[in-house]
Amino acid sequence: SEEKSLNFIEEIIEADLKSGKYQSIVTRFPPEPNGYLHIGHATSICLNFGLSKRFGGYTNLRFDDTNPVTEETEYVESIKQDVAWLGFEWKNELYASDYFEQLYGFAVKLIEKGFAYVDDLSAEEIASLKGSHTEPGKDSPYRNRSIEENLRLFSEMRAGKYKDGEKVLRARIDMAHPNMLMRDPIIYRIKHAHHHRTGDAWCIYPMYDFAHGQSDSIEHVTHSICTLEFVPHRELYDWFIEKLEIFPSHQYEFARRNLTYTVMSKRKLLQLVNDKHVDGWDDPRMPTISGMRRRGYTPEAFRDFCDRVGIAKRENIVDVGLLEFCVREHLNKIALRRMVVFDPLKVVLTNYEEVLGEVEMLVGEDNPEDPNSATREIPFGRELYIERDDFMENPPKKFFRLFPGGMVRLKHAYIIKCDEVVKDEAGQITELRCTYIPESKSGNDTSGINVKGTLHWVSANNNVTAEVRLYDRLFKVEDPSSEEGDFKDYINPNSLDVVATVYAEPALKNARMDDRYQFLRKGYFTLDTKDTYGRLVFNRTVTLKDGWAK
Ligand code: ATP
Ligand code: MG
Ligand code: MG
Repeated sequence: SEEKSLNFIEEIIEADLKSGKYQSIVTRFPPEPNGYLHIGHATSICLNFGLSKRFGGYTNLRFDDTNPVTEETEYVESIKQDVAWLGFEWKNELYASDYFEQLYGFAVKLIEKGFAYVDDLSAEEIASLKGSHTEPGKDSPYRNRSIEENLRLFSEMRAGKYKDGEKVLRARIDMAHPNMLMRDPIIYRIKHAHHHRTGDAWCIYPMYDFAHGQSDSIEHVTHSICTLEFVPHRELYDWFIEKLEIFPSHQYEFARRNLTYTVMSKRKLLQLVNDKHVDGWDDPRMPTISGMRRRGYTPEAFRDFCDRVGIAKRENIVDVGLLEFCVREHLNKIALRRMVVFDPLKVVLTNYEEVLGEVEMLVGEDNPEDPNSATREIPFGRELYIERDDFMENPPKKFFRLFPGGMVRLKHAYIIKCDEVVKDEAGQITELRCTYIPESKSGNDTSGINVKGTLHWVSANNNVTAEVRLYDRLFKVEDPSSEEGDFKDYINPNSLDVVATVYAEPALKNARMDDRYQFLRKGYFTLDTKDTYGRLVFNRTVTLKDGWAK
C-alpha cells in the first residue's frame, strides 16, 4: 500500500526520478527458459512489475536464451503462462537470441578498439593461467594478436571453421585484476548446437556476461535487478557498457528468496522430476508456480506473500508458514464451503420418517464471509455419514463431539442425540442409532437446547464420491540444501497421502477448475487439473488453521 515504507531499491528509483536522471523507468524479468518458474522467480516478477507499476514505466519479459543446450520452447510457454497467471502484463516479449547479430557487432567493436582477442588456449589452459585471489594471472600467448588477425579469426569462428572449444573470444582487460571475473573473461564460445529459436544459424554463442547487460542496454532498461550472486559481475557489466558506449543500464542486487522445507533451484527441481520423486514440474508438492497453481494457490496469495516479505540485502530463509498463512487468508474470503466425510461412520436417525420419493433439502451458504453469498442445497435423510473420529465411546472430558448419550449439531441441519452404538462381531462400531430434535433446525431453532459441538456430515444415500490428495512438506528438514550429503536424502517419504474414496455433498458434482473450496473442518481444496478423467480428484491446498468448534 502507499503507506508502506520504501525498500532499498524503491529508494534508489525514487531518488533517480527526483533528480531527473530518468523520467520513467524500465525493468525486465529475464528468465532463462531452461525450467519452470518457482516461488523465487515469483518474487523477482512481483518486484520488477511492481516497481514499474508504482513509479510509472514498464516491464519487459525477456528470455535470456543464449545457451542453446538447455533451453526449450516448452519452458518459454510455461513461463509466459505463469507470469500472466500471477497477474502481470509485460510490455514487450523479447529474446536475447534476437540480439545475436547486434551482440556479434558489439564483439567486433571491442576487437576493433583493442578490447577483445581470439584465444586458442583450451578451457583448462585458460583456467590454469587465471591465478587466484592471492596470485595474479598470466597473459595468454595469444593476447597480443593484431586487430586484423582477431577480426579474421572471429569471423572464421562464426563461419564454422573451428570445432567446439578450439577457440574463444576473450575481453582484454587485466590478468592481474583483483576481481577474478575481470581477468580477460571469455565472451564468445563455439558451440555447434541447435538453438530453440535460431536453429543452426549460429555456431558461436555469447556468454551470459556478454549478453545480459547488453540486452538491458539495447532495451533501455534503467534498473536491472538481479540476485546477490551477480554482485561481482557488476564491474564487468559496467565495463562492457562503458567500452561500447551504449545506453547505461544499471544493475542492482537483492537476496534470493529461499523458503523452508523446499529447494529452489531449477537444477535441483529438474533432478526431482527426472528421478521421479514427483510426477512432473507441476506436481502439487513442487515449489513451482505451476505446481502451486495445481495445488490451489491463488495469484493474490503470491502477491500478498511477496508484499509482506519484501526484499533483503542479505541471504535469509523465509518460513513456508507465511506463504500458507497468505493463501489461507485469501481462500477464507473466496472458498465455497462444502461438507465432505473422509472416513464415514453411519448414523441412523430412528425417529426420522422418510417419505418415499421425497428428500428434505437443507440450505447452506456458500461462504459466510461474503454478505452476498449464494447458497446451495444439501439433502438430508434418515441415514447419514459422520466422520468416524467425531465419535468416541469413552470420551475424555471436554470432548464436544458425539458420544453415547451426548448431543451435537449437524451443520445446517438438526441437533441429534446418540442413543445406541451398534458393533459387529469383532467389536468394530458399524453404526450409531440416534434421534434428531425436529424443532432444532438450523436458522429456525426453537428447541432451546444448547450444544457445544457442530459436525459436518453427508447423506448416506445422496452423495458423490471423490478422491482427495493430502500433501505434506516435500522435505523433512528446514533447509535441505545446507544439509550434509545429497539434498535428495532428505525427501519426506510421506509427502503424499491419497484418500481413495471420500463422501461429498452432491453440490460438488459440479465442481469447476477455477473454484476454490473449503471442506468444512478439513482444509482448502481445489479440483486437480490432471488425472481427473471421469472422476473427481481434489488436492488439498492447505489445512485450516482452526476448525470451528470441535
Ligand atoms: P535457478 O538457480 O533456480 O536456476 P536462475 O537465477 O538461474 O534460477 P533465471 O531464469 O536466470 O533462473 O531467473 C530469472 C530471474 O529470476 C533472474 O533475475 C533471477 O535473479 C531471478 N531469480 C531466480 N531465482 C530467484 C530466487 N530464488 N529469488 C529471487 N529471484 C530469483
Ligand atoms: Mg540465471
Ligand atoms: Mg540457473
